[in-house]
Amino acid sequence: MVVILKNNPDEAQLQSLIHWLETKNIQVTQSLGESNHILGLIGDTSRIDMDLIGALDIVESVRRIQEPYKKANRKFHPDDTVITVKGTTIGNGELALIAGPGAVENDEQMLQIAQAVKAAGATILRGGAFIGRSSPYSFQGLGKEGLDALVKAGIATGMPVISEIMRISQLDYFKDVDIIQVGARNMKNFDLLKELGKSDKPILLKRGLSATYEELLMSAEYVMSQGNTNVILCERGIRTFETYTTNTFDISTIPVLKSLSHLPVVADPCHASGRAALVAPLAAASVAAGADGLMIEVHPDPTHALSDAKQQISPAAFADLAETLKTIRNTVKPQ
Ligand code: PEP
Ligand code: MN
Repeated sequence: MVVILKNNPDEAQLQSLIHWLETKNIQVTQSLGESNHILGLIGDTSRIDMDLIGALDIVESVRRIQEPYKKANRKFHPDDTVITVKGTTIGNGELALIAGPGAVENDEQMLQIAQAVKAAGATILRGGAFIGRSSPYSFQGLGKEGLDALVKAGIATGMPVISEIMRISQLDYFKDVDIIQVGARNMKNFDLLKELGKSDKPILLKRGLSATYEELLMSAEYVMSQGNTNVILCERGIRTFETYTTNTFDISTIPVLKSLSHLPVVADPCHASGRAALVAPLAAASVAAGADGLMIEVHPDPTHALSDAKQQISPAAFADLAETLKTIRNTVKPQ
């Protein structure tokens, strides 16, 4: 971090700033120029509040040279993080295929889809039980009952399960859920992230609708700062001026996050596009770009799905897609 001071800074204030930084284990070097006075901060500056320093009378501006995220940063952890749940791994060069309905609708539906996606090569079963919808009048999910149906289907088919948590008070319901998903709208729910940081379950963190890469990584840092380093990042499209698709799928996210961070990166082409016809091409592009996995919404009768009907694909379409994706992965190995 570099601190640029105003001309003729007050010496007492300067010494007090340097002293304060030293108490935080930051080494300070000073460079005195003709017209400017610069402090170089060396050490772990991830815990230093830039805004606090920037607000001081003697300070002109503050710049970070290093990223503010440390635990999620590849610089400090060069090896890829590999997450293992119930014998399934995410981030080891194989392709994790997370599949299942947008929302759990009932026991039979859940079991039927679980069997179909498992046969097609899915490695993790998804199903929304607490689902955040844009309208309060849309189906809100079956809640605890939905999680029970998901867990049962996971056990019956031997797949770990993933579902979205909306608030901290739901955590008890998730004791048999293997991976906890944080939705795009909760990416900045820092209290929830901190609480999940104390859990021993992997967390799949979705990118917020208008979140930058750094903001997503800072949210991962919130979880990791509490001890839980098993975080999976998920690109699910961002809000742009385009209205043809629900969101705009940002393919750059995959190689960028893989270079900035050691955490596994998965893509969700269903929420990114909102259109079933775009799921296969976007999924293919994600694998070619180096994604560690995909999250695909699969429904036996997509047009009658209780949620997100337009973006879910049939089990048969998923089976075809899974084959294509495996071929792409075998051709384009992740960097
Ligand atoms: C979901 O996965 O069902 C979901 C609601 O996704 P997102 O948070 O990305 O909108
Ligand atoms: Mn959905």
